[in-house]
Order: sequence, then structure tokens, then C-alpha cells
Amino acid sequence: MTQASVCFIGAGNMSRSIISGMVNNGYDPKLIYASNPSQPKLDALQADFGINTSNDNLAVAKQCDVIVFSVKPQLMEQVCNHLAQLDLSNKLVVTIAAGIPAKRYQDYLKQPIKLIRTMPNTPTQIGYGMTGLHAQDNISDEHKQICELLMQSGGKVVWVEQEDELDQVIALAGSSPAYFFLFIESMIETGIKMGMSEQQARELAQQAALGAAKMVIQNPEQSLATLRNNVTSKGGTTAQAVNTFEQGDLRGLVDKAMHNCVARAKEMA
Ligand code: NAP
Repeated sequence: MTQASVCFIGAGNMSRSIISGMVNNGYDPKLIYASNPSQPKLDALQADFGINTSNDNLAVAKQCDVIVFSVKPQLMEQVCNHLAQLDLSNKLVVTIAAGIPAKRYQDYLKQPIKLIRTMPNTPTQIGYGMTGLHAQDNISDEHKQICELLMQSGGKVVWVEQEDELDQVIALAGSSPAYFFLFIESMIETGIKMGMSEQQARELAQQAALGAAKMVIQNPEQSLATLRNNVTSKGGTTAQAVNTFEQGDLRGLVDKAMHNCVARAKEMA
């Protein structure tokens, strides 16, 4: 597939992660543009990846086949309004902003558009991201492939049929790195209370988390319950810990946290 020219409106953390992955995966940097008001981030992107940079959103958007909106959600209306003067009929519009429904981009840009909404997460920064994608009905397979190519540069992608399923993607993948950070953080705190150094406690907890995640991924035929039972001898130490979680209704807490996450996503839309 021929590579499309792509501009990133907003050159912050997420754009940098995606651009870094694209270039590392062989995307031609001459086809990548980033536009941002302040210069230092642009200079760093140019120096590190050899892409084109600008302070003029309109100029880069005019030039490119694909426009990726990557500004904070509260700035989206203003940024889109400015680009509404362009004819976007032949362009693919991709947004990575949380919370803003597809229909609203059409209002902001004051014309029918071809839009794909994406929901990446922070591990995209290190190539282990998980991104949910939703395409409007008018999106061609070619445009879907182009978008997949961009977002796969930061990890894995999954398409959802209904736009509101992106809220579930937020609960399962967008916000969930923070759940795991909290769990590991709690383990480290207790390790320190038990007398370990912070460094030792962190090394033990993080390696166990990595090993557990890899076991889940590398054993798709085994249920999570089987993996758990394999390390839980009856009456042993793991059983003691796992029973404590069950008695404290860890599952109920996770369920409540994820439902609250989805509810907040809907409130913010
Ligand atoms: P960020 O680092 O703050 O990047 C936003 C960039 O937008 C900044 O570089 C900012 O430039 C630039 N900007 C401000 N006004 C602009 C304008 N008028 N035109 C062009 N660029 C402008 O934020 P981020 O974390 O990359 O997030 C970007 C988007 O990704 C957000 O909508 C967020 O919801 C979404 N997202 C983020 C994550 C995440 O984990 N970070 C996950 C999923 C989705 P200055 O700094 O110069 O003002």
C-alpha cells in the first residue's frame, strides 16, 4: 500500500509516540507533518525523526491526505473551527481525543467528513499500546488500513462496531494502565513496610507483573482461573493471599471501578 501523507495537529506526547513508532517501522518521515504552537517540541521531532514541522495548522492540513487531531479535548472546537475553511471531502480525519463524539467533529468542521475515532493508551509510548478504533459508515477499507498502519506503530489495535463501545475500550485499555500501576504501587508500599528497600520491592513487583502478563499472552488456551490455580496450592501462601482478595471483593471493586469509568466517559461526551 502506498503511504499517505499525514499531519498531526498538536505535537504533544501522543503524537510523538505515534510518530516515533511510524518512523521506526519504516514510514517515510518526509510524508509526516506536525503542527504545534510552541517550537521546542517541533524541533525535537524534526531532530529525532526527520519529519516536517510547522506552526500553521491550516497549511499542513491542506497539504496532507490524513489529518490526525491530537490536541486536548477542550481545544478541539477552536482548532477544528479554524480548519473548517478547508475542503476536507477527500481527506481522512482521525482523532485521538477522548470523549468527543464523531458527530461533533462534523459540526466543528462545518461539513461532512470521513472520520475515524481512536482511543489509544499510554503504553503506546513504548510500542505496547492498545488502541480502540471506530470508523463511521462512510469510511473505505483503504482508509481503515491507513489508520491501522498509523495506530499499529504504537502497539495493537481493535475495531469496535458501535461508537459507544469506545467507552468500554477506555475502561479496559485506555484507563487500565493506571489500575495496574496502582496495584503494583500498593505491593511496593507493603514490601517496604515489610522491611525491603524500595528498589528491591519495585524490582520484585514489576518483574512479577511482567511475567504474569507474558504468561497470560503466551497461553491463550488457558483460562485465567487455570493460570491462577496453577500457582495456588491448597492451604498454601498464595491461597492465603488470593482468599484475602476474594473476601475483600476485589472483583466487585474492579466491576464498580470500570462501570464508573464508563459512566464518566459518557458524562464527558
Ligand atoms: P499534550 O502532550 O498536551 O499534547 C497536546 C499538544 O497540542 C501540545 O503539544 C500543545 O502545544 C498542542 N496544541 C495546543 N494548542 C494547539 C493548537 N491550537 N494547534 C495545534 N496544537 C496545539 O497531550 P497528549 O497527552 O498528547 O494528548 C493529546 C490527545 O490525546 C488528547 O486529546 C487526549 O485526550 C488524547 N489521548 C491521550 C492519551 C494519553 O494517555 N496521553 C490517551 C488517549 C488519548 P503546546 O504544548 O505548545 O501548547
